[in-house]
Amino acid sequence: MLPSTITIDGPVASGKSTIGYLLARRLGYLYLDTGAMYRAVTWAALTRGVSVEDEAAVTALAESLRIDVVPPTADDGRQYTVLADGEDVTWEIRRPEVDGTVSVVSAYAGVRRAMVAQQRRIAAAGRVVMVGRDIGSVVLPDADLKLYLDASPQERARRRWLERQARGEEVPYEEVLAMTLRRDEIDSHRAISPLRVPEGAVVIDTTGLTVEDVLAAVLRHVENADP
Ligand code: C5P
Repeated sequence: MLPSTITIDGPVASGKSTIGYLLARRLGYLYLDTGAMYRAVTWAALTRGVSVEDEAAVTALAESLRIDVVPPTADDGRQYTVLADGEDVTWEIRRPEVDGTVSVVSAYAGVRRAMVAQQRRIAAAGRVVMVGRDIGSVVLPDADLKLYLDASPQERARRRWLERQARGEEVPYEEVLAMTLRRDEIDSHRAISPLRVPEGAVVIDTTGLTVEDVLAAVLRHVENADP
């Protein structure tokens, strides 16, 4: 029997979204990238004039915002469509302003409480690949298979830099590396649900591996898992 609930955690640009998406497609499972949810809250705060430093206001926003992550509604390279109160924010949530502030917003206890409740509800039906920072450790500690992807900071920064180049954004590599390290630092050291290797997780170092290599390794673990 294949594992029904699969979690993938890891730092910025460790390959978890790419692999999670491909794995879910291969298995015919639901794919939920939980980073998109924290990004949607951050984008809503930035555009609605809510100060990201104001924990109470951001928490209230997270509790009231309706976030839907649904199958792609446009053929423009997206893995899924993100709706915030019905508005398509799929590309807006990838903007540098969001990259720069999402780690502050996601460190708030009330924001996490609101997101985790939604994530558990979505996972309850099973047949899901859920991707994030705390999925195997906090959101779904009893998942059938837990994966943790990692790669060197230089390789992860290079991946993000290439993605941004492809989108026509001219940004120095050093700046992307600094941002990657800063986000990892905040995500790993926050008081609530810090990024860490979940107990019982399979760790895969993706440095120097192609997407095909990583997917093949993950599929071997899926086939050998004993849920
Ligand atoms: O994965 P992605 O880079 O899109 O995630 C954006 C941010 O959302 C992370 O840097 C982290 O601060 C936060 N996040 C989180 N818990 C998750 C997923 C993402 O705190 N499960």
